[in-house]
Amino acid sequence: MGKCITGIDLSGSYRVYLAITTDMVEEARKIHDTTPVATAALGRVLTGAGLMGLMLKNNSDKLTVLFKGDGQAKQILATANALGQVKGYIANPYVDLPLNSVGKLDVGGAIGIGDVTVIKDLGLKDPYVGTIALVDGEIADDLTAYYFISEQQNTAISLGVKVDRDLSVLHSGGMIIQMLPDAKDEAIDELEKMLSDLPPITSLIEEAVNEGKGKTEEGILESLLNRIFGELKDEYRVKVLDFKDLNWLCDCSKERLSAALMTIGKKDLQEILEEDGQAEMTCQFCQKKYLFDKVHLEGLLEEIKG
Ligand SMILES: [Zn+2]
Repeated sequence: MGKCITGIDLSGSYRVYLAITTDMVEEARKIHDTTPVATAALGRVLTGAGLMGLMLKNNSDKLTVLFKGDGQAKQILATANALGQVKGYIANPYVDLPLNSVGKLDVGGAIGIGDVTVIKDLGLKDPYVGTIALVDGEIADDLTAYYFISEQQNTAISLGVKVDRDLSVLHSGGMIIQMLPDAKDEAIDELEKMLSDLPPITSLIEEAVNEGKGKTEEGILESLLNRIFGELKDEYRVKVLDFKDLNWLCDCSKERLSAALMTIGKKDLQEILEEDGQAEMTCQFCQKKYLFDKVHLEGLLEEIKG
């Protein structure tokens, strides 16, 4: 299970969303059989999208985050909703690159030069779409830039995935600090100072998990929050608001894949029917296979004609 702790500082200057997503990213790794750098890239996008989803106002709101670049990963897509349900995929899960100059998995190199698009479906007639050029392809700074440029919002985003020797996900998590409209200048200065000295988020999670043996997930998140914000001046300390679930969930169904099959068009569908007599569709998020028989395909053709 994955969880996110949310809080607000006592002066009303900022909100914080802090999550441990190790299980969610490990699930994605198993489904997509990703290499370490692909695990890190996909895991950061899933975690970022998951946190952004939890920031949405209504339970039916959802969003899609799409990273596209000229690197080997090609593209990474994640969708998330306000209920903390997240799914995603990486176009090339087998991308393999040497470690970067600071000895870390080279996510920026795997993505390359490109852009990130965020689509927010808030139940209005048209979704809200914003695209910006990537800052460095390392995901966190790209999403920070997205908020700044597309939504005129100041945020600080940290995302991290640590891959174990056996290639499984050892630790994964992220944090979004969202400045509120009436933020005090001093709060911003204090946060900047605090963030510049902060160890990587995966190190903090590792520490909190190791020290929190026997504690609940909520308890571990509370100590993690305290470790990060506990040294700030009293008025900028964080008060816990609530805990939200944040988990991998694919909501695909035969109906949904059938609708996708219909979009390939009458001519191609006719061809599949004549040549194969059936069609197999794989969900790109969870890799589940759906088989559509002759009768189903004939029905679809009828529907298109009608
Ligand atoms: Zn699926």
